[in-house]
Amino acid sequence: MKKQEHIQTQLYQDSKNQQLFEEAQKFGFDYLTTVFDRTVFPTEKALADLKHFQETMPTSPTAANEVIRLLNTYGAPATVATLGARYFGFVSGSAVPAGLAAKSLATFWDQAPAMHVLSPIGSTLETVVESWLKELFNLPNNTVAGFVSGTSMANFCGLAAARYRQLSKLGWDMNANGIFDAPKLRIVTGKHAHSTILKSITLLGFGKNNTEWIDVDDQGRIRPDLIPELDDSSILILQAGNVNSGSFDNFESICEKARKAGAWIHIDGAFGLWAGAVEKLSYLTKGIEHANSWAVDGHKTLNTPYDSGILLCSDEEALRSALHMSGSYIVTSEQRDGMFYTPEMSRRARIIELWATIKNLGRQGIDEMVYGMFQRALQFSNELSKIKGFTILNEVVFNQVLLQCETDDITQKTMKGVQELRECWVGGSIWGGKKVIRISVCSWATTAEDVSRSVRSFEKALLEAQQQPVA
Ligand SMILES: *Cc1c(COP(=O)(O)O)cnc(C)c1O
Repeated sequence: MKKQEHIQTQLYQDSKNQQLFEEAQKFGFDYLTTVFDRTVFPTEKALADLKHFQETMPTSPTAANEVIRLLNTYGAPATVATLGARYFGFVSGSAVPAGLAAKSLATFWDQAPAMHVLSPIGSTLETVVESWLKELFNLPNNTVAGFVSGTSMANFCGLAAARYRQLSKLGWDMNANGIFDAPKLRIVTGKHAHSTILKSITLLGFGKNNTEWIDVDDQGRIRPDLIPELDDSSILILQAGNVNSGSFDNFESICEKARKAGAWIHIDGAFGLWAGAVEKLSYLTKGIEHANSWAVDGHKTLNTPYDSGILLCSDEEALRSALHMSGSYIVTSEQRDGMFYTPEMSRRARIIELWATIKNLGRQGIDEMVYGMFQRALQFSNELSKIKGFTILNEVVFNQVLLQCETDDITQKTMKGVQELRECWVGGSIWGGKKVIRISVCSWATTAEDVSRSVRSFEKALLEAQQQPVA
């Protein structure tokens, strides 16, 4: 690009440059077709090549096709193949092709569904998906949905609504008067609550030390017998899907009673809420309908592309008041104005790929896909427990498997070994005070053969770890 060229002229030329967009799309499609076979974690060379991005702020423009080529040449190989079939770290989720394609199309639309008038398509799809989710999870009819970036934000929104409602029941207008002289609320949750619950607790001004942390059982479920008497000042936070063991709190024995006592119940169901959409697994979420708010991700179990979380709340007034300082006054508009249900005003129309994914799979497809993750997790557990030196620590009720070796040292080395083999990827955690390897099955693409291939890699890493001298 010549220095004296005006940027606007150049940008107009780029916007008519079909080859630029075709090339970007081709690179994307090449990636998708190879991601299932490549090393799951980037090679050493790919990591070293990231040096090509290390430069000071560029003074002059770089041609658009050169920008895209840089990304393809040095960016793509340094990605982690979370999209593939053998990534079992965290709870990450792949993306179904229709969702990727919809996102790619919607990139060109560049919609912001803050208001209906700003994006009729965004507003319509949000309304439609809201009703689908209510049906899938069997939630109360008055439930509304906010489409946010992930469960971190969904937890935050649900607990902000809880704070607004519980304080208003105690005669305190949170929006007008703030938190400093407010009546004290009681935050009650299990000791295994996800770290993003802790984040919300601190962001909302409740404080970690003011929280009542309840003991959990050997699967990480909150112990119902230890939950104290609750009342109008209480917020009870439960979990559908323990991030390590995959276990579910006993909603049936907890929720109805807590609700009657006046507590607000929030359920963090980032990946686990989807069990409710699977016929043979829906026993796990029985009783969640008595809660007031639910947080769930699209980008984990459902396999939408990243940046898709949902807050569901059966108290619309509390949610809108908490997020938009509109007091108890509800602005009734005929159509959905998405910004009333999210912290942001402008945000991208992530609903498009969420809609596309659900439309593509249908109820049957979701049932089959999610149940398949459970079956693959069971397969992992069965095959690994046959290998001497491995012990499975959890009841595999959903998609998580916790694996332990004879000593912390061997567990750690085995995990590192699996990571270095790059056939699959798993992370670690602590369970019952000891190191464990966490396996999370959450990709539509994982086949029985992928599981067996990964198990062979575990076996190899274990043998090598056993032969290494103790650190
Ligand atoms: C992943 C996860 C979260 C956080 O969700 P993000 O989508 O990463 O923001 C919260 N709770 C649980 C149980 C999770 O697994």
